[in-house]
Amino acid sequence: MAKNIGYGDTPTLPGTPYHVHDGNRPQPKVVTPGATAGEAPSDAVALFDGKDLSGWKSAAGEGEAKWKVENGYMEVAPGTGDIRTKEEFGDCQLHLEFATPSVVKGESQGRGNSGVFLMGLYEIQVLDCYDNLTYPDGSTASIYGEYPPLVNACRKPGEWQSYDILWKAPCFEGDNLLSPALVTVLFNGIVVHHAAQPIGPTGHRNLAEYFPHPPVGPLKLQDHGDLVRYRNIWYRPLKGYDEG
Ligand code: MG
Repeated sequence: MAKNIGYGDTPTLPGTPYHVHDGNRPQPKVVTPGATAGEAPSDAVALFDGKDLSGWKSAAGEGEAKWKVENGYMEVAPGTGDIRTKEEFGDCQLHLEFATPSVVKGESQGRGNSGVFLMGLYEIQVLDCYDNLTYPDGSTASIYGEYPPLVNACRKPGEWQSYDILWKAPCFEGDNLLSPALVTVLFNGIVVHHAAQPIGPTGHRNLAEYFPHPPVGPLKLQDHGDLVRYRNIWYRPLKGYDEG
């Protein structure tokens, strides 16, 4: 009965019996989220105000962000590419809301795919996993290719959903990793990663591996060809643990 939803010819993730994107990894348990999501506090830095993309640009080069903006949200304009904030930041509390298309099409990774790339490098997956199986380390709110979410807290396609993310950037000294990134993610108010340590920037079908990068970076949103919407994107900078 099992659909071929993953890969068996990829490397094995350390400390687990599973391959990267293993379709046989246990699926996240389905949990129904509460009804409401959060508004920005007074000290939040707005990254998208619902009106225009003036704070954004194309993630490739210096071109403009070409996604559609209407009714207070932005929507992926398929084929125009990933977009990123002009602003760069490191340790933070990040909030955003997204909706996958209400018209459901595709399956597995082909249904409502986008992504939230912290520092432009570390993807918290956006996908429609409401009644849609895929490899667990690529399901909604996964740390893509590394950690499945603790549970599947997906709302129905077309409904607004939220990520609240606590992010600590990795630290490097020269080429050496001093401390890995640390991330906690709430999906629709439900903890799905608790102080998880990414094993490196996101890749596809490979084992992630750290490389030195600056302590700040943009927020990047992925154009994966699906009409995913975003709204109410803000962050609060957090002082690094080692800055006293
Ligand atoms: Mg994605």
